[in-house]
Amino acid sequence: MSLPQVHHITHPLVQHKLTLMRQKDRSTSGFRRLLNEISMLMAYEITRDIPTQLIEIETPLETMQAPVIDGKKTVFVSILRAGNGFLDGMLNVVPGARVGHVGLYRDPKTLVAVEYYFKMPSDMHERDVIVLDPMLATGNSAVAAVERLKECNPKSIRFVCLLAAPEGLKNFHGSHPDVPVYTAAIDRGLNEHGYIVPGLGDAGDRIFGTK
Ligand code: URA
Repeated sequence: MSLPQVHHITHPLVQHKLTLMRQKDRSTSGFRRLLNEISMLMAYEITRDIPTQLIEIETPLETMQAPVIDGKKTVFVSILRAGNGFLDGMLNVVPGARVGHVGLYRDPKTLVAVEYYFKMPSDMHERDVIVLDPMLATGNSAVAAVERLKECNPKSIRFVCLLAAPEGLKNFHGSHPDVPVYTAAIDRGLNEHGYIVPGLGDAGDRIFGTK
């Protein structure tokens, strides 16, 4: 089994937009727009090594063999509901991708993830999965989502978040050392309610304006 990998996306544009998103007075529309932009930038890093194949095309001057990706082989899996905030930006960059959804809620007392929805495209064994959840906090939802996804036997799985807590990374890679994590920041830790600090608050509430 390969060693756990954490890819910290330190690109200045990503860091700049994340700082704007963290600010508590950022409006819902501003937060959503920034998440959309940061998703596109992160998609660039996350898809850096996805396979390409050569196809024959005609330029105005001659025929050539040129590389393309098979977007349909990529599945973005949104962990509801905050994962949906990542989708538009990612789909802008990989428009042919398929989308799966996993619904999990956190039991407020135990913080354990409970599944209420799971819908994936067919032929998962032919597809590369990119799991989306802005916050890797305790890691319990991420662990549960990836456990279910592994039952579908996809070709590969990677996990993408905006913020990770060290506790979440440890928990996640304790269960899934083979799944690389891509994150824009690793914050100090979790508070007593399981929120990432300094963090950005409740990602779902900030995306959907529900607070
Ligand atoms: N989920 C969130 O939306 N924010 C946190 O800080 C932790 C979990």
